[in-house]
Amino acid sequence: MKQLTSQQENTLKVLDAKLRDYFESDRSGHDFDHVLRVVRMSQSLTSDDANLFVVTITAYLHEIFDDKLQLPFNSVEEVAQKFDLDFEGYEEQIEQDIRSIGFKGGFDSKPSRTLEAKYVSDADLLDAMGAIGIARAFYYAGSKGLPFHDSRLDGVIAENYDEYRNLTRNAIAHFDEKLLKLVHVIETDEGRLVAKKRHEILSSYYDAFYSEIKGS
Ligand code: ADP
Repeated sequence: MKQLTSQQENTLKVLDAKLRDYFESDRSGHDFDHVLRVVRMSQSLTSDDANLFVVTITAYLHEIFDDKLQLPFNSVEEVAQKFDLDFEGYEEQIEQDIRSIGFKGGFDSKPSRTLEAKYVSDADLLDAMGAIGIARAFYYAGSKGLPFHDSRLDGVIAENYDEYRNLTRNAIAHFDEKLLKLVHVIETDEGRLVAKKRHEILSSYYDAFYSEIKGS
């Protein structure tokens, strides 16, 4: 049901206030505004068949086990306890949903997702697409000291998960290995509508980028 009780709204307000402190220092594109965009997008995609409370908590917490962030949480139950919050018995589903999300270069096979996890996953992928997705890709590459385009690295793209995380390559290679594929990875009809527009932005940017590189 696409509605929250006032107690659930209060839980989410406290979660928002307490969680944001843990994201203050991120400079890799996983700042708290990314989390907020995923929360808002997940909520707007969610149909009446899904549990909006579970979707929203999952969206807030979707980065907490990411090895890049090193947050001090090992389980969703730990988050509920630390922040003194009532997740109404959904801790286990939320934990499994979070662990089923994440593109990881498309190299990691994921367990099948619940409807709630599909909405959050789509919202997370949509944030890697469109104008913001382009900004995040160049920002991430810059944070890793990777060039946006060095012609000696032309054609170098990641072929496995280790390379996906560690290979020296151009920022624009990320379009080939991930961003331009995302439109086919989106799982919900609601997400596909938004993805179509964002894919067009990615695709026309990519074409313009290479036409400028060629000097045409
Ligand atoms: P995932 O693990 O699901 O592929 P991340 O959480 O690592 O994604 O990605 C965070 C942001 O940084 C996303 O917008 C993603 O597209 C971007 N990103 C990840 N790896 C790279 C890379 N090698 N070059 C450019 N951008 C990247």
